[in-house]
Amino acid sequence: MTSTRITSPMTPGSDPTLAAPLVDALQRFAALPRVLVAMDFDGTLAPLVDEPMDARALPGSEELLNELSCLPETLVALVSGRALADLIELTRLAEPVLLVGSHGVERSSEAQAPSRDATEQTRFAALDADLATVLRDHPRARVERKPHSLVLHTRGLSGQETEAAVRAAEEVVTRHTGLVVTPGKEVLELATRHVGKGVALLELAQEHSVDSVLFVGDDVTDEQAFGVLRPTDLTVKVGQGDTAAQHRVDDEAQVLALVRALLELRRRAARPATNCMDPSRNTPDEA
Ligand SMILES: [Mg+2]
Repeated sequence: MTSTRITSPMTPGSDPTLAAPLVDALQRFAALPRVLVAMDFDGTLAPLVDEPMDARALPGSEELLNELSCLPETLVALVSGRALADLIELTRLAEPVLLVGSHGVERSSEAQAPSRDATEQTRFAALDADLATVLRDHPRARVERKPHSLVLHTRGLSGQETEAAVRAAEEVVTRHTGLVVTPGKEVLELATRHVGKGVALLELAQEHSVDSVLFVGDDVTDEQAFGVLRPTDLTVKVGQGDTAAQHRVDDEAQVLALVRALLELRRRAARPATNCMDPSRNTPDEA
């Protein structure tokens, strides 16, 4: 594949080489008047780890996103399946970066996350109790409680154990109505309330009247977003596997290179203004 080396200082061990068609697409995207830059977290900015709360973005990537968000007409969002509270704890992204959690259900820009109403609360509690039986039979699996979903985690289990635990959880699902079931990498998410990353991104794009959305992600729920974004948007899959995205990068290190390249391109295209109150957050001009 033709490649273009575009970046400046690298993270040790990373290969910052982005494919030429992706660099061309980033150049066109960066030149648009108003854009939304959206990233998944796990497997995109942060390498996957066994213990979910140990996940951290690759060094430098959050700082670059913070800087990008300070450029004019440049909205930056983290769009993850994680609960918003986890994103706040795990990341060092600062306003005006927008954090979108629970596949679009929760937003850091909203004063209060939507709470469960009485009906949802009852459904959630019944599902929680039923999933406890799965954990009794498969004690190495874990259940994570998010505000509007329960997530079965099978990371660290053998293939056979995973299959049995997922089968048991799917059996539980048949006893409940109105759940949105989303498989992911070593997770099975059962949501009592659902938006979806694709809908969340389209809503943000409309609310902020952006000309284009860049979305980078690695997992099943990101494919749903790749599938609904418009041809004028820019989609990038991280890693191997079938994808509906227009472009692909190998790993989190290349995502870091992508963000760095986009920041440089957008700086060149931007008018001299900032979204941020604190000018010390802007890196001095390297020119
Ligand atoms: Mg991911």
